[in-house]
Order: sequence, then C-alpha cells, then structure tokens
Amino acid sequence: MADPEHLADDPLDTPVQFVRGCGPRRAALLAKLEIHTVRDLLFLLPRDVLDLSVAADVEQLDDQTIHTVRGVVVDTDARPTRNGRTLVKSVIETSSGMVRASFFNQPWMRKKLPEGQRVLVTGKPKRYDGAWEFSSPQVQLLEGEPGEAVGGIEPRYALTEGVNQRGLNMLATRAVEGFGHYICDPLPKAFRDKHGLPHLKEAAANLHAAETLADFNAARDRVLFDDLFEFQLGVALRRRMWRAGGTADPLPVSAKIDARIRRLFPFEFTAGQNDAVKEIAADLASEVAMHRLLQADVGAGKTVVALYAMLTAVAHGRQAVLMAPTEVLANQHWATVQHALAHSRVERRLLTGRLTAKKRKDLRARIKSGAVQLIIGTQALIQKGVEIPRLGVAVVDEQHKFGVAQRAAFSAGDRDPHVLVMTATPIPRSLALTQFGDLDVTTVRDLPPGRQPVVTSRVPGPKARQKTWHFIREKLDEGRQCYVICPKVGDVSEADVESDELSASVEATFKELTEGELQGYAVGLVHGRMEADKKEAAMEAFKTGETRVLVSTTVVEVGVDVPNATLMVIQKAESFGLSQLHQLRGRVARGSRRGYCFLYTDQTSATAAERLGVLERTTDGFEIAEADFAQRGPGHVLGTRQSGKSALRVADPQRDRDLLEEARRKAFHLVDTGMFDQPEWAMVKAEVLDRFGEVLELAKTG
Ligand code: ADP
Ligand code: MG
Repeated sequence: MADPEHLADDPLDTPVQFVRGCGPRRAALLAKLEIHTVRDLLFLLPRDVLDLSVAADVEQLDDQTIHTVRGVVVDTDARPTRNGRTLVKSVIETSSGMVRASFFNQPWMRKKLPEGQRVLVTGKPKRYDGAWEFSSPQVQLLEGEPGEAVGGIEPRYALTEGVNQRGLNMLATRAVEGFGHYICDPLPKAFRDKHGLPHLKEAAANLHAAETLADFNAARDRVLFDDLFEFQLGVALRRRMWRAGGTADPLPVSAKIDARIRRLFPFEFTAGQNDAVKEIAADLASEVAMHRLLQADVGAGKTVVALYAMLTAVAHGRQAVLMAPTEVLANQHWATVQHALAHSRVERRLLTGRLTAKKRKDLRARIKSGAVQLIIGTQALIQKGVEIPRLGVAVVDEQHKFGVAQRAAFSAGDRDPHVLVMTATPIPRSLALTQFGDLDVTTVRDLPPGRQPVVTSRVPGPKARQKTWHFIREKLDEGRQCYVICPKVGDVSEADVESDELSASVEATFKELTEGELQGYAVGLVHGRMEADKKEAAMEAFKTGETRVLVSTTVVEVGVDVPNATLMVIQKAESFGLSQLHQLRGRVARGSRRGYCFLYTDQTSATAAERLGVLERTTDGFEIAEADFAQRGPGHVLGTRQSGKSALRVADPQRDRDLLEEARRKAFHLVDTGMFDQPEWAMVKAEVLDRFGEVLELAKTG
C-alpha cells in the first residue's frame, strides 16, 4: 500500500516513483517509456507474452509433432565437427526430466546458454541414446532465477536501457498490489456482464500476471476495447451533433436540374458516378446536412461528381465552394470547371493566396454579396474575412491533408452547408472508421470507359535503364511526351553527375539527361522551389508540347493534365510510397493511348523488388493502398497529423480491426438509442469529452 501522503486526488494519478520498489531513479527511466503515473504502469500493455503453460512434460514428447519444453540449462559445451564447423550442445533440466538441445554451426549459442539460464525450447525432438534431443530448435530466453516459480504467462514489454523485463514486471505487479483496489471501472456492470468484459481491476492484474493465455487476452482486449470504444463514442456523438443540427437547407434535385447539369458534360456518367450522384442527391434533399466521403481512384471522375453537387446548390440559388489542399490542385479543378462550364453563365471564381490584396478584397466583397455562385480555392477560402452567406454545398478535396477543424470551418452560421469530402487515396475500412468515422462513405470503383492500364515496370540497374531510354526516345520521336519525376529538388553540385548511380535530385537529373540520354530533345524543368510564374511557364510549355520532356518533383502529382504525355520515369522509385507512385502514374493514364511508367531503382534486393512489384502487378488503387498501409502505417501514407491512430492510446485500427468494428457497433448503438445519455454512463462520457472533445469539436454536445 502506498504512503497516503503521496497519493494524488485520483490515486491512480500518483507519480510512479511512489510505487513500492520504484523510487526517483527508476521513475526517471520509466519516463522514457512514457510511464509517468501509477495508471500508466497498471495499464502498460506488454508487447507480447510467452505462454509458458504450453510447455510439455518430457513423458508427453514424441517425434511427430513440434513441442515446447521449459527448463534450466545445466551444461553447455561447444566442439568442432569433422568438417570444421562448431556443434553446441546443451543439457536442459525440466521439472519432468532432462532433454538435450544441439546447434550446428551456431557458435554464438554457447554464450547465449550459460549454466543457470532459463529457457523455452521449441522444435521437433528425436530420441537419441535414451534421451530427447532438439536439433537446432527455437530458443527463447526467460528472465529470472533458476527454480523460481513463475506464472503461466510471461509478459514481454517494450524496454529502455536500464529497465529489464523482470524489473518492469515486478513494478507493474506491485502497482497492482498497492493501487489495484483504487481502480474503479467506468463501464456499467450490466454492460460488462452482457459483453463478457472483465472488470478493469482484474484486467490490470492479468496484464502482468495472468495464469492462462485466455486471461491475458481478455485483459489486453479490455484495454484495447476501452481505447477504441471511447474514440468511437466520440465519433458517434459528433455524428449525432451534425445530424441533430438539422439546419441545412434541403436542395432536392429535380429531373430538370439533373438534365441541365448532365448536359454540360460531353460524356455519359459511369455507373459508379451515377450511384454516387444518386446518394448525394438523396443527402442534398434532406434537412440533415450531408457529411459524405467520396473515395475513388485517380481518374475515376470525382471532380465531375463534385461539380454535380455544387451545381445543384447553384440551381437552388445557393453558393458552392470547392477547397483543395494546394494551389496546383485548385488550379487543376479550376481548369476542369472552366471547361465544363464554358457555355454556362454560372458566376465562378478562383480564390487562392496568390491574389493581390486589392483583388482579394474585391473578390471577397463579391462573394459576400452573393454574386459569385461557384468558388474554387485553397485554404484561403476559410481564412478570416471570407464570408459566403449563401453557402449550400462545400466540397473538400483530399481532406486528409486538412484537419477535422477545416472540414468544420464552413459551418459557421446558423445554416450548415452540405459537405462532400473527396479522396483519391482509397482508404481501408479500418481507417475510414477512425479518421472518417462520422462520415457516410461512397466509393466509386469503376473508371470511365476506354482507359487502359498503365504498363508499369521496375527498371533496376544502369543497363536496363539504357534500354528503357532507347524505348522512350522512340516514343518521343513518335510525338509522345514524358515526365521524369525525382524525389527531391537537390543541387547539381551535390550529385556526382559522372556516377552510374541514380540521382534523387531534380536539378542533377535535368543536367544529366540534357547532356546524356535526352541530348537534343526539348526538356523542361519544374519544382516547388521555383518562383510561381516560372513554374507555371514550365508547365505551360509542356502542356503546349513545346517541351517534350518535363523533369519534375512531385508537383505534377495532381497538377497537370496532358493527354499526350504517355510516358513516365520515376527516379529512385523506392523513395516514394506505393500510393503516391500510383497517383503519379495516374498522370499518364489520361488519354486513350497506352501509358508507360518506369520505376527506376538501384535497389535490387528481393524485398525492394517485392515492394515495387505491387505496382507492376495491379492497378487497383484499393489493393495498393492496403499494401501501403500495411507497409508504412496510415499516418505516413496519408501525410496527416490525425491519422486516427494518433488519437488512440494503445489500439491500432489495422491490427485491432475486429475490436474496432465491435467497439463501433456498441458505441453507435448506445448513442443512437439515447442510452448513452443515462447517468450510469456519465463517467465514460466525461472521459470521452476529455479525450476527444477538442479534436472532434464536441463542445456543443452535452
Ligand atoms: P479524378 O478527380 O477522380 O482524378 P477527374 O474528375 O479529374 O478524375 O476526371 C478525370 C478525367 O476523366 C477528366 O478529364 C474528366 O473529364 C474525365 N471523365 C470523368 N468522368 C468521365 C466519364 N464518365 N466519361 C468519360 N470521361 C470522364
Ligand atoms: Mg480530379
């Protein structure tokens, strides 16, 4: 029991140094593991566990199956074999008899298995000279003294220097002894009983000293569940808040409006676009503001769908905006809109940070007067001073590059606009449920007809590159154009232009190519550090065909639409994420001619080949995104501060997918039925608001 004078108001907030046996010195080490309070220690999740209870008795062994035995090394020696290798042999004493373990050609095992070392040995044993012998088995070293009684489950924590497994486990166990009785479970008993969740007190105890694997798993799942459950409760509250607002103006799509909008486009909508439009029209007709995520692969025609929603607002005498994360992308949307509305009198404007102060002021005034009906822009749209009094529909492109706050920024007045969020990085369900959990989701899976998949090949090494350049020159001579994408801006002097190695720098690559493989061809250069007008001039020259090749950083990722550009080279392809590479190659899949994407790389390892191989194999953005999320984690792929994972304490939406679904079902049920507003849930609600009130902007909820 802790000395009462050190107890914090909530005893679980007591600094960890007051756990018996800890003290300030160890507390400082624990701080490196983000363990500051007793609570942190109590609910510290082991990385994994060793299940010692699976250990077999020696009498149970046979040579047909894999067995695990537990024991103490009583003797180890190493001797040379006839062919000059080393054979290490250990004798291991278990509670039910001796076994042997032998290791061929692993001389280091001798040091790893000193006398007195406790071990778990796993393998298929054979009977030699009246004893069982494991040949080159898997060995797990156990901590602790020989002969020491251990529980069935040994937790393994993430460690830092100066803290070992045993020490950490001992402290955690003592925290349970000293503070466990202060743990009060916020979940109502009836709820716990109904769903078979252990009491939190029991969970804390079983995290660190479970007797069986089932007990440990139940404890771990309880902690992960709470994390996910609270988050999903926050998401459910947020969704209810949106919906309860009920302040949106219904914007029904009549047959006449529908026909007028469709007439603008020189093509039929795809089936996927039609489905999306139908769902959006249903949302718009309602008094509950739309909050929908539209996800579709690059080139699937999202802009068209967005424009449909926006023009519906205009048809009802309302204003509509489309906000893009970058200026380049805003320009691209602007071009699409201008093209579609060439014969329309809809009053439309582009608002970015690049307008002069005077022009911006004039534009703001026109927007405020309601004269401008359709506005495309960057974040400049949600800056102070921009008032859009008759806003009916707001479209936010690539929302994951914005925070939740920006999404909400449009709903300032007493009327909420209908909000459509778009993304070209297909989002696996696990992540959609966390980051976009309060949105309805529409997925467009088909592409406009006539699109051919981009032929994608990995090009490793200088020889293969030479051949590829030859192919590219042939295509250039036929009149095609080519992008060369580099990972960074760099500097000519940085790179060794003479070397055979690939350069990552756009400037060095430009120099290399204009003096080498592309000598005599008109080559342009563009990157983010150039002045805006130079950048634009370079892009324009490529668009008009004046330059045949554009050496560029990823500014073209979403920027240019040149149907004649059917070739793309990506320098040091391994330095990009898979989803980004997929987006990039989308640039050469625009026209009716076949596109080619060459992934240049110096990395020849099998894992590198396997990684880029995903792009050679498939053009399905969803499959690629899944592979990318699995390889790099969601925050990385989406380049977002709020990957949903960071909002969580211990759970991982990908790994803990099943628990996430369960937590979500339960959370939404509670909130939607109003049960969550009962007093028995007050403690949980307070915790949810404390954790997520700010990020999810739940302030308005009770
Ligand atoms: P996304 O934004 O999803 O990448 P866009 O909306 O920019 O895709 O559309 C990509 C290209 O496909 C544009 O040139 C657009 O005009 C064209 N497009 C869109 N929908 C269709 C369709 N149903 N049929 C033919 N072409 C289409
Ligand atoms: Mg687009």
